[in-house]
Amino acid sequence: MARPNQARLDLAALRHNLGVARGLAPQSKVMAVVKANAYGHGAVTISRQLQSLADALAVASIEEAVELRDAGITAPILLLEGVFEARELGIAAQLGFWVTIDNEWQMRWLEEAVLPEPVHCWLKVDTGMHRLGVPAARTDEFYARIKASGNTGDNPVIYTHFASADDVTSDQTSEQMALFDRACDGLPALRSAANSPGLLAWPDARYDWVRPGYMLYGNSPMAAPHPNAKDLQPVMTLTSAVISVREIAAGEAVGYGANWIAARPSRIATVTIGYGDGYPRVAANGTPVLVNGHRAGLAGRVSMDMITVDVTELPEVQVGDEVVLWGKGLPLAEVASHAGTIGYELTTRMPARTPRVVIND
Ligand SMILES: *Cc1c(COP(=O)(O)O)cnc(C)c1O
Repeated sequence: MARPNQARLDLAALRHNLGVARGLAPQSKVMAVVKANAYGHGAVTISRQLQSLADALAVASIEEAVELRDAGITAPILLLEGVFEARELGIAAQLGFWVTIDNEWQMRWLEEAVLPEPVHCWLKVDTGMHRLGVPAARTDEFYARIKASGNTGDNPVIYTHFASADDVTSDQTSEQMALFDRACDGLPALRSAANSPGLLAWPDARYDWVRPGYMLYGNSPMAAPHPNAKDLQPVMTLTSAVISVREIAAGEAVGYGANWIAARPSRIATVTIGYGDGYPRVAANGTPVLVNGHRAGLAGRVSMDMITVDVTELPEVQVGDEVVLWGKGLPLAEVASHAGTIGYELTTRMPARTPRVVIND
């Protein structure tokens, strides 16, 4: 009998979510973002599914792109942070990666490079995120320098990134779009702005390419429920099982630091999943889990390999019963909020120790 933990990956849900993205922007090309091991789901598994459905893939670094090429992925792959040193441009050209140019250093490396093949460039413009991107006012200059470098065969795509698109009450997204439109004005370039929240909630942000990541994994990135997100289906369902059950008296404590005290005679189920398996240690008492499909709350601190759950209201619970930590029936965002974080972080931190099991291939 093996340890029962699984991160189940529903690939039918993944395909469905890609369809939702396409449906929202039928005129745009779709770049599926699979950085950070596809947000912890497994970059190769996810990219194999998505490469025929999306128009391109995107990752954070050349290492991530090489991993996909080595696994036989032939789709175009954009490096969202560009190259980190000049030498990587040659590898990108050879393997057909698309490169972001987002600062003066990357621009000079491209100008000085002698490449085996031209590279397709995406020029990133800073419209207010202030993390990456060339100043919006200098877009024309960088566009011209990319063209003049002789190292790119076609026109660069111009793109930007939103800081607050998950908040429909914020003015920042409209301000960023207005600045982006001015920056691109008159340039013969395709444009791209929307991440998942941009695509879900900001119709004007669709442009020629959309770049969804998080929503493809079936969760809403929006700060408040949004109608365009309601059809998304979670790809990852994290499951474990009950390995022990006990009765404790009122006043008894559970777990490290004795930080949960029974207010009544209680039944405690121990589940074999902990922070060593990707379940967040900071999840508070009361964080919901599903035991046999019924909600129950965390009771006591998360251990490395185990959690303890108050199942006083679920008298049937016994050893071997299935427990869902998030996914189908229990929204990732709800669990994340009990851990003071966002769903992005929970799936992305899923360690190799937790087996990924594909369903609906
Ligand atoms: C990560 C990333 C995305 C995808 O963002 P989501 O919120 O996951 O959809 C899109 N564009 C860029 C530049 C990114 O870094």
